[in-house]
Amino acid sequence: MLAVRSARVKGAAAARISRRIVCYGNQISIRRFESRTFPARIHSASCPFPRFHSTSSSTSSTTTMADAKLAQALSGLSISPATIAHEPTTSPAQWKEVIAAHADAPKDFELIKTLVYKPKTAKSATPIPVVVIAREATETNSGAIGKQLNLKELRLAAGELLQEFFGLDKDSLSPFAIDKDGFSKIVTVIDPSIADSTSTFALHASSSSSTIFVSGKDIVSHLKSLESEETKLQELAAAGAAAPAAPAPKAAPKEKEDAKIDGAVQIAIGVKKEVDFASWYTNVLIKADMLDYYSVSGCYILKPWSYSIWEEIQTWFNKEIKKLGVQNSYFPMFISQSVLEREKEHIEGFSPEVAWVTRAGQSDLEEPIAIRPTSETSMYPYYAKWIRSHRDLPLKLNQWNSVVRWEFKNPQPFLRTREFLWQEGHTAFLTKEEADVEVRQILDLYRKVYEDLLAVPVIPGVKSEKEKFAGGLYTTTLEGFISTSGRGIQAATSHCLGQNFSRPEMFNIFVEDPQDHSKSYVWQNSWGLSTRAIGVMVMVHGDNQGLVLPPRVASIQAVVVPCGITAKTTEEQRTKINEECEALAQKLRDADIRAKADLREGYTPGYKFNDWEQKGVPLRLEIGPQDMKKNQTLAVRRDNGSKTPLPLGGIESTITELLKTIQNDMFTTARDNYWSHVKTITQWEDVVPALDSKNIIAIPWCEAEKCEDDIKDRSGRAAEPQDERAPSAGAKSLCIPFDQSHWPAIEAGKTKCVGCGSDAKRWTLFGRSY
Ligand SMILES: [Zn+2]
Repeated sequence: MLAVRSARVKGAAAARISRRIVCYGNQISIRRFESRTFPARIHSASCPFPRFHSTSSSTSSTTTMADAKLAQALSGLSISPATIAHEPTTSPAQWKEVIAAHADAPKDFELIKTLVYKPKTAKSATPIPVVVIAREATETNSGAIGKQLNLKELRLAAGELLQEFFGLDKDSLSPFAIDKDGFSKIVTVIDPSIADSTSTFALHASSSSSTIFVSGKDIVSHLKSLESEETKLQELAAAGAAAPAAPAPKAAPKEKEDAKIDGAVQIAIGVKKEVDFASWYTNVLIKADMLDYYSVSGCYILKPWSYSIWEEIQTWFNKEIKKLGVQNSYFPMFISQSVLEREKEHIEGFSPEVAWVTRAGQSDLEEPIAIRPTSETSMYPYYAKWIRSHRDLPLKLNQWNSVVRWEFKNPQPFLRTREFLWQEGHTAFLTKEEADVEVRQILDLYRKVYEDLLAVPVIPGVKSEKEKFAGGLYTTTLEGFISTSGRGIQAATSHCLGQNFSRPEMFNIFVEDPQDHSKSYVWQNSWGLSTRAIGVMVMVHGDNQGLVLPPRVASIQAVVVPCGITAKTTEEQRTKINEECEALAQKLRDADIRAKADLREGYTPGYKFNDWEQKGVPLRLEIGPQDMKKNQTLAVRRDNGSKTPLPLGGIESTITELLKTIQNDMFTTARDNYWSHVKTITQWEDVVPALDSKNIIAIPWCEAEKCEDDIKDRSGRAAEPQDERAPSAGAKSLCIPFDQSHWPAIEAGKTKCVGCGSDAKRWTLFGRSY
């Protein structure tokens, strides 16, 4: 629950804030002066903060200790760096802002982040914290770091551990808080690019309210000076420090050279999908103008080209759920701590990702307020209030909103973002039977969103106990597949919550039997579909020319481009071609086809072709002088590149049909591709090779949780990492498909589980996943 929780501002620290006293030593460029007495030189009597000498009369012993370590570190380096005092900061963004606004700070600087992780250790054992020192822009991936160090389940360390080892909170830590004694008790890992960088780095001096500016060399020298025979400074491997996601690969590493497309023109995607999938994906999103990066890490701007897809989904889905009697409503985004934590199992599933508001202006809130990670707990107290009798059931509400899950894994646009858009439906019924029926009705609507609108195939099924929604009874799911990475992806889920939330000790939602006054606790469902769907669509259909949009969700379905205009073309001819193009577009619009004529001056047809291909417009219609003579247009499909001349007579119905064909073809191609990667496996030896060949597997499975853990463990260890940004993980269960008819019937007592050899229950999909 750390996320955006801010540190409490102590009185003394707060008093210091406004004074902004600047303590300056020599400039950082003049480092090598021979003096061990600099603390005295940089601290005149009128400069109360910070004091680097151990005899400081500082208010708390904590500060004294941290100051002493800092003083020792700096004297060891014989430097007296520029130091500024400022208000305490509780986030990198705020820290950066405060420094940038400071008159005495260097113009250009980079933040250094000092992260402390705790590996999973037995309760009795003393933990050995892992301290990761990295540049601000370096994405640190705890999974990969754990893998590199051979440590299990690294988690950001709690405040108590930081106090125990460093005597500081997370907002005050820096490499200078580590001394020789401390160094021997921890594992220290440094981002190797710090040493070679010419940047000036900002580090907290000894608290979150002071900053010093040093070079990368100084940081490394300090840490090296702490090394002993037993304990050495470690370097962060590439997998643990994936380059920050950037709009374009500015400096692609050499081994990625072959990913570049030969002769790629300025506006092409520039990277091959099958070679560097991660860069390809972000390039497509940027070049198709779907998305832009945002100043808060893990958050993205959805531009009209992608938001319009979401609107199509909304329009269709709203219509369908209203047929089922669902009504839209809106609940606040804030949830009080006590309400959020009422359902223990539920909150345990979400707690590491919950962001908290702890302060308003300068005052701390009495009780922190959570930003909803999902709305069960915000809505159900009111369900208890509103549901009084049988007549109030079923209650079916939906809301279109955003939720926040403060992920620490590598963010990926649409797939894993800290804030995302979705709809969440919450319904209550008198009986389990009614709830069961609705769970499947909704899942089928989700299937239609994917298959009919986005042309993305999915496999419907039920989640294992381990993978089901926290606090729910059972979870049904649609599982998608990204064949380029060979990974499964959860596409949408529809949960039956059972009576877990309606029980008297939870939200106490019941109706009374009019005859015997017995209480019936309601049966509840919740279901959600998010903008992740857009990312899955991009990954499934996109190619090396860019985005490929299925016609049903394309905000422009057909673009009309004037062609054959040369230097010899007269003004009159040119006007005539343009008019013909506009007339065609208008005719199509009148027939409810989303069409546009691209009459931009100063762009060649070739440029326009590329531009619209990159943006994925399903159909291009060319009109040139020859076409006009023949009263036809040349239709070029985005999905397969095929070209067909079409007569202009009756063009509306021809295009309507053609768009349907494209939609169907895109789905069929993707479905065949998906199923060609679902491998039926009946012995363990075949599991890892199948996964390594970018497949998911269908196995007879016992459905035991321990077996699932074991499969994940064994398939993770055996595998080689495939992509620096997607280190290979173990396979987890994706779903138990409802339709088991793809595979031979399971024979009770005869068919054995591929994982553990005990009796298998059902065929289950396992795979590496997003
Ligand atoms: Zn098993």
